[in-house]
Amino acid sequence: MKLLVATTNEGKLKEIKRILEPLGIEVVPPPEKLEVEETGCTFLENAYLKAKAYFEKFRIPTLADDSGLVVEAIAPYPGIYSSRFYEIEFGGKEEPKGNKDEANIRKLLRLLENTENRNAKFVAFIVLYTEGKGVFTEGEVRGEITREPRGDRGFGYDPVFKPEGYEKTMAELPPEEKDKISHRGKALRKLVELLKNCEGLFG
Ligand code: IMP
Repeated sequence: MKLLVATTNEGKLKEIKRILEPLGIEVVPPPEKLEVEETGCTFLENAYLKAKAYFEKFRIPTLADDSGLVVEAIAPYPGIYSSRFYEIEFGGKEEPKGNKDEANIRKLLRLLENTENRNAKFVAFIVLYTEGKGVFTEGEVRGEITREPRGDRGFGYDPVFKPEGYEKTMAELPPEEKDKISHRGKALRKLVELLKNCEGLFG
């Protein structure tokens, strides 16, 4: 089975390939980036908008991941704004100096500076869409926001997210360990199960 992945986020693409290819699914990146306006107010809606837009352009069954971090003390933020948290009005804008991931982390740590409640979760919604049909799965992982970034693996907020039961941040864990516990790993494995159990759903 071949799936187009509706993302140009290198971190996500790498993880989706790493998780799905050993399970016998060929993952192809989009031939070009589409500007899809994420106008939905939920992860699911935004995943659907991306999957549908890429499918309609390239006509290959398309998988989209909409994901993010939800931090209890400032919930529902960063939420659906996770990738551009640094530039939204909530909490004041942060200069993007360097890369966006670093600016997002700086803003998050600033907002939590005097906050004891560090509880957070990563959430992923995966939509698989093809002509007239769509399915979705979701996954989450709970943890805490650290006081400073640690580790250089992964992407996004990984350096400040310490999963429940671990002393290391996501960015300090080996990739296969992240995949075992991550929101994305859980949602993708649920999708593969769903496809197995609903044979013929996507040809
Ligand atoms: P999206 O591309 O609109 O789904 O935005 C996802 C954003 O959520 C990313 O740019 C990251 O900031 C954050 N995010 C999602 N998944 C992860 C992860 O596995 N690790 C770290 N950050 C993540």
